[in-house]
Amino acid sequence: MTLLAIESAATAEVDLAYITEEGTPDLASYDRIVCFFSTGKDSLASVLHLLELGVPASKIELHHHNVDGDPAAGEGLMDWPVTLAYGQALARHLGMEFQTSWREGGIEREMCRQETRTAPVVFYKDGVRIETGGVSGPLGTRRKFPQKAASLSVRWCSSASKIDVGVAYLRNDPKFQNQRTLVVTGERAEESSSRARYATFEQHRADGRGGKFARHIDHWRAVHSWSEAQVWEIIERFRLQVHPAYELGYGRVSCQFCVFGSKNQWATNRAIAPRAFGRIAAYEQDFGVTIDRKHTVGEMADLGVPYAAAVGIWVERAMATTWDAPIVVENWTLPAGAFGESCGPT
Ligand code: SF4
Repeated sequence: MTLLAIESAATAEVDLAYITEEGTPDLASYDRIVCFFSTGKDSLASVLHLLELGVPASKIELHHHNVDGDPAAGEGLMDWPVTLAYGQALARHLGMEFQTSWREGGIEREMCRQETRTAPVVFYKDGVRIETGGVSGPLGTRRKFPQKAASLSVRWCSSASKIDVGVAYLRNDPKFQNQRTLVVTGERAEESSSRARYATFEQHRADGRGGKFARHIDHWRAVHSWSEAQVWEIIERFRLQVHPAYELGYGRVSCQFCVFGSKNQWATNRAIAPRAFGRIAAYEQDFGVTIDRKHTVGEMADLGVPYAAAVGIWVERAMATTWDAPIVVENWTLPAGAFGESCGPT
């Protein structure tokens, strides 16, 4: 196989990344592949793309960040209740290892900070709880929801509950030492102008290839150039059940109560999860700061219309914490949310 040396677009490092003539990293050169897996369609398409490229399932870890913290701690605030169980079911079907990590207390604890530190990151290794960070950071106060902006400094939920959690995991699990790891994520250029500027392939932030632990970590956005149609096509080829939120009409799936939610999504969330919606509305009142600059979540919901598909069995499945539906669908059809409203982080 011929390797073309290219310099990573996003780093000024002298280090060179290696891309094959087919435009993919040299996948066989990695000891392990970690897919940061939201359970949404783009991260699923990335995983399936790896399989179509011939990567053995045994080499792939599906890694999900629980944005509400420890799933054993009870009811979360932001996420779809079914997400974890659905992700586990998919991993089981695909024959892949499934791992999770989280910021202790999740987005809720971080947004309620009042002269306290950002909480530690937690993951389990061989059944042992590993905690990292949270002891020496600065004291600080948030008392507001993440803001709807591209900048991660104000839209801090993505960094606090996902990106930084992933970095902490990669830096602190010894299994990445003296290994070549490829991290795969599903951002697509089509989603926003800021995502269009992301490098397709670069050295990962947690990389330490020149350091004491020889932790070589690259980052590949495997479907960066793909259209939404290509994403649905690969899922159809595998006939896989998509996250129930797509069946309800949501075009993009990550947190159920994403701060970027549209009016119709707030209306749908209020209709299908009134209790959880009420908790979000109460926080807005308590903080005296709304998620949207102009409207409370109640006003947003009043301005929207619940998705027509958000009724019946798919509501039950989305709001359950277990998964007992088939993961392979014989007569696969596009879900109601395909090519629909696609509001989310930019
Ligand atoms: S899905 Fe929305 S609320 Fe959740 S972490 Fe991403 S931007 Fe924040």
